[in-house]
Amino acid sequence: MRKIYLDHAATTPVHPQVFSEMRLVLEECFGNPSSLHSFGRKAKEYLEQARKRVASLINALPEEIIFTSGGTESNNLAILGTVYANRRKGNHIITSAIEHHSVLHTCKFLGTSGFEVTFLPVDGNGLVDPDDVRKAIKRETILITIIHGNNEIGTIQPIEEVSLIAKEYEVPFHTDAVASVGHVPVDVDKLGVDLLSLSGHKIYGPKGVGALYVRRGTNFTPIFHGGGQERGLRPGTENLPGIVGFGKAAEIARRELASERVRLEGLRDKLIQGVQRLVPDVKLNGHPVRRLPNNANFSFAGVEGESLLLRLDLLGIAVSKGSACSSGELASSHVLLAIGVDPELAQGTLRMTVGRTNTDEDIDYVLDVLPGVVAELRRMSPLIE
Ligand code: PMP
Repeated sequence: MRKIYLDHAATTPVHPQVFSEMRLVLEECFGNPSSLHSFGRKAKEYLEQARKRVASLINALPEEIIFTSGGTESNNLAILGTVYANRRKGNHIITSAIEHHSVLHTCKFLGTSGFEVTFLPVDGNGLVDPDDVRKAIKRETILITIIHGNNEIGTIQPIEEVSLIAKEYEVPFHTDAVASVGHVPVDVDKLGVDLLSLSGHKIYGPKGVGALYVRRGTNFTPIFHGGGQERGLRPGTENLPGIVGFGKAAEIARRELASERVRLEGLRDKLIQGVQRLVPDVKLNGHPVRRLPNNANFSFAGVEGESLLLRLDLLGIAVSKGSACSSGELASSHVLLAIGVDPELAQGTLRMTVGRTNTDEDIDYVLDVLPGVVAELRRMSPLIE
């Protein structure tokens, strides 16, 4: 049976060149990068080459990159490392209602332990209003953290505008760019952020490795304590094979970004327009234009998203109900509720995210089978009179 993977926002397959470099390191470079002998020095060389590659993907300096275990850790480290470092200045954090759980839950946790958190609303397309950020800032504000590209609905936030406001009030500004890095240009200077999170497995690198960019001079403290690795900001023996794979993935992403972006936008738009043409009563979620090149997110009235997902899976098409991390939950996605999708309609939501593995023919096949599956589920649905 034909197999079509349309869940690249959940994770991506490892690029063959990434695999080759990781294999080389696993076979030939077992040294600890902190060791002084030749084995250690060789490992250190690989580590620093990967750091340069990741830095250059986001126009950062190599010394501004801290390797972590992934996007979740990067977000936790960014938030906790900043608020602990600035605790004496204040206790107020500003974030948005549509953050990934690794930001949302970290902020909620801080809200129960002496910090005050403002969760900014978004409009119907999922955009934060920079004016709302300005209004929310107070003397005690010590961190603003707002997602760059949303992993569920694809909306891209006006990070440049928010960063001007953050600078004006001298508040550290973090963005979770896990879903956007490698898909749209991410330049830390143009965005004007102080901290930025990335993850390897979203850009055809391995799982379990990521990075946090921390601008030089940012007031920051580690949350783990141990050895001096990663300039003491993230101690622990480095995951060298993972980091090397991530570095290679970053190098490829940088090289291919412009062409792959155009190609994916073409596939995405064909999918969006096709679904809107062929399926009645469907709502596209997220911003129509300020949107990640790989993301299409639809709510189908009168359909249960999980049934639709499973039917498509039987036909060889892998999609997601929302974000992969929350797809086991019954409650409607906080992102869909924040953009005003009715909770019942939210249950009929599918996210399809295209990537390197997809072709025009894949989209043709989806458009061939999806309308029939939706119609059949609607016929059987108790939600439709
Ligand atoms: N932020 C966003 C926007 C994400 O999409 C994800 C992954 N779903 C994460 C953070 C967490 O990244 P990781 O899986 O590497 O922990």
